[in-house]
Amino acid sequence: MSEFRADLHCHSTCSDGSLTPKELILLAKENGLSGLSITDHDSVAAYPEAQKFAKEVGLALIPGVEFSAEHKTHSVHILGYSFDPSNSSLLALCQRHEQRRKNRNQAILARLAKSNMQIDEEEVIAIAKGDFPDTPHTIGRPHIALAMTKKGYVASPQDAFKLFIGDGKSCFVQGEQISVEETIDVLHQANGFAVIAHPHLLKNVSIEALLEFPFDGIECYYAQFAAWQNERWLKIAQEKSKLITGGSDFHGLLKPSIPLGSSWVDETRFKALIK
Ligand code: AMP
Ligand code: ZN
Ligand code: FE
Ligand code: FE
Repeated sequence: MSEFRADLHCHSTCSDGSLTPKELILLAKENGLSGLSITDHDSVAAYPEAQKFAKEVGLALIPGVEFSAEHKTHSVHILGYSFDPSNSSLLALCQRHEQRRKNRNQAILARLAKSNMQIDEEEVIAIAKGDFPDTPHTIGRPHIALAMTKKGYVASPQDAFKLFIGDGKSCFVQGEQISVEETIDVLHQANGFAVIAHPHLLKNVSIEALLEFPFDGIECYYAQFAAWQNERWLKIAQEKSKLITGGSDFHGLLKPSIPLGSSWVDETRFKALIK
């Protein structure tokens, strides 16, 4: 028997990943993973079809999501796991995010237009939907960055973030804020776990401040971390009796240097997430 590995953080075409949920599941199998969670930004559209397909091909899949939240105006990503994907409070939060993103994308496009970068909302939607016009997609800055590149305003999506739409840059807009507290509450209402995502990326908000909220876990393994880099988060999670999660944050073409399964948890940690 090969070692059990589960990647608990990746994105599909339902948000800003380049593989469909089915393609992700097949790639997970190919890469030797035994478990997976697809954690699209502010969307659970991959479920429950993904669960059905995973069952068919023999991959353990747990429902996942990555919500954008704010604590005192600072961005915090919250991973949710093992919730009921048909829970009405959860679906209502996803819908609120869809509207928040629509308003925010329009505001970002208005700022770009003022800087002589004319992009229609429809162009961004077309890029996000790609070959799958009928599936719901979370549309965000990565798609705007691709549109800017396609129109020749920047040399690459990375440059779009670096020069214009990255946090705090001239064309960045934060948009409506949805609190950490409310996000955790909705995940709990849906019988799920709420986990602090990639804590090393937190800016202007400490993990100690976040642990005042009723989080269930911390993402301690991430991307291509060396073992010593995980130690800080593992120590905190163990001290506070939190669940320990980990994953690659695979996006496919958007972040081509990060392979699916490059970060993972073992069977014990995976099973701790199953309700
Ligand atoms: P949004 O959710 O619309 O605010 O977009 C945030 C997403 O954009 C992140 O989750 C990443 O996938 C991507 N992103 C953020 N910063 C960068 C960057 N500097 N280069 C490329 N992608 C980025
Ligand atoms: Zn993303
Ligand atoms: Fe994130
Ligand atoms: Fe992510």
